[in-house]
Amino acid sequence: MPITGIYGPDDFANRPQGRTISSVTRATLGRGELALPTPSLDWTPAVERATASLYERVKHVIPPIEWPLMAPTIKAINELKCARNAVILAHNYQAPEIFHCVADIGGDSLQLAVEATKVKADIIVQCGVHFMAETSKLLNPDKTVLIPDSRAGCSLAASITGADVRLLREKFPGVPVVAYVNTSAEVKAEVDICCTSSNAVQVVESLNAPNVIFLPDRYLATYVASKTDVKIIAWKGACEVHERFTGDELRSLREADPTVQIIAHPECPPDVLAEADFTGSTAHMISWVRNKRPRRLVMITECSMADNVRAELPDVEMLRPCNLCPHMKRITLANILESLLTLREEVTIDPALAARARRSVERMINLKN
Ligand code: SF4
Repeated sequence: MPITGIYGPDDFANRPQGRTISSVTRATLGRGELALPTPSLDWTPAVERATASLYERVKHVIPPIEWPLMAPTIKAINELKCARNAVILAHNYQAPEIFHCVADIGGDSLQLAVEATKVKADIIVQCGVHFMAETSKLLNPDKTVLIPDSRAGCSLAASITGADVRLLREKFPGVPVVAYVNTSAEVKAEVDICCTSSNAVQVVESLNAPNVIFLPDRYLATYVASKTDVKIIAWKGACEVHERFTGDELRSLREADPTVQIIAHPECPPDVLAEADFTGSTAHMISWVRNKRPRRLVMITECSMADNVRAELPDVEMLRPCNLCPHMKRITLANILESLLTLREEVTIDPALAARARRSVERMINLKN
């Protein structure tokens, strides 16, 4: 059914001015440890030999001419991970040289959140955006969590504050609140439970409530509403990457090649999803491609996802369009190396706020499938 209401900052006359998206990240040297010297980043026969097996993983998406520029940094990062007892978590939207060559664990937001609970290392380097690093910190309060560039934000997380959630609760007393994980810890602390695009419908239905406030993505809310009888009250947030796709683009692609398969992320507008052969989270999209092995495919999501899938499945021809996420692209090999050398930038969250936010994330993780 259609969403029953959609609210945004302009709908609350008493909304506090100013923004506190997140004040929990600061640049610091971690735990007093000394910065390490920068290793040699020369392209040498030894580097070539040491990274040859990694290049095999990405040879279909990274031209040979570019590899000598990346390989020395990749080798240095992988050596530093051991020296620092660190693990690298990378989202599916990270570039192939990160996702396939330095990450220990890759996946969508839910997979990364679950894997973060199992990490044994002292340090987590989060290759993704800020709310992902916060989630890792929530689940690993005693570990050092680093994000190579704390400016890596998210238009969804930036669309809503904890104060906004409190205003929604005042307006709809007793209605439970579900927050997409693409929110700050401050927002997670105000809601009943989190969800990802993999489990959003399941989470909404788990509350056994006739009405649910679902925030902040208006399009994911619309998608969830189409899959459940629960009445959904939404927030006016949107992903700046997925909202730019249009149904017209997809129709043109089909007209050009009626055999093409199109799969889309539920953060896209409804007219885009209406044209797609399959809609799912990034993890579900990857599973779909592994199972179906389409000859020609359009992945309506962030561009690096198509590159990462093509690196694994080179027989699948990937057609554009895709859109780059400028926030995800702030993470680079160079700043991952810098992060491991200097232990910057460390994510810290006020313990009282973290305890409330953690409860919302753990409630999601503990839901039975
Ligand atoms: S792709 Fe969209 S939802 Fe994901 S981090 Fe970028 S802006 Fe946020």
